[in-house]
Amino acid sequence: MDIIQQTCEILRQVADPDRGTVELSEAAARALRKLGKRREEALEQVAQEVANCTKCDLHKTRRQTVFGGGSIDAHLVFVGEAPGAEEDAQGIPFVGRAGQLLTRIIEKGMKLSRKDVYICNVLKCRPPENRDPTPYEKAQCEPYLIRQLDLIKPKVICALGAHAAQTLLRTSQPTGKLRGRWHFYHGIPLRVTYHPAYLLRSPQEKRKTWEDVLEVLKVYHGEFTPTPSVESIEDLTYGR
Ligand code: URA
Repeated sequence: MDIIQQTCEILRQVADPDRGTVELSEAAARALRKLGKRREEALEQVAQEVANCTKCDLHKTRRQTVFGGGSIDAHLVFVGEAPGAEEDAQGIPFVGRAGQLLTRIIEKGMKLSRKDVYICNVLKCRPPENRDPTPYEKAQCEPYLIRQLDLIKPKVICALGAHAAQTLLRTSQPTGKLRGRWHFYHGIPLRVTYHPAYLLRSPQEKRKTWEDVLEVLKVYHGEFTPTPSVESIEDLTYGR
């Protein structure tokens, strides 16, 4: 049984079916705290594996790995491409110029706190000279991202740019074709938008990103639940 199933089972056992409330005994609260701790430990274990990873040549040039940052209980996860120079120096995702724009989108635009969402990348190491990640590098790093998202289990995912969108959705379609509709990643609603680094180069596209972000917010706040359409079911067939 996975951690979420165990949590649901504990809640079912202690719920009052008439009042629809859950009054936790000290023992149940302790059990839930223990499960939360196990998720944190499991995520830390993945971070440790990443820190020691030598699966591709990027380990030879990185200063450090950049695993991810934010809350393990986040309802929203942003997935970017790969760390840049500033991220490689600090070990924190999205702290350079593109990161500062992402932070403004989250905090000024969405009125959320950066620490309440989770931010990570497809690659956990910086490609030299910020070149594009290779298919081999993405394939080596993807299992870490899958485990990260499986432990966080967000309500909604926002893929930033083509590398994140194409990796998560297993497609080769460009960002412009993927944005503007809901996709699903392992059943989790996923919206594609432009990468903040692209927005710095093409500020006229910021309006479209704002439209994407508003859709993400509706799901985040529980105002809208996307259901798979014929197009998004095609995403699930993978490998296009
Ligand atoms: N670009 C990314 O895709 N990720 C970062 O962490 C920084 C810049």
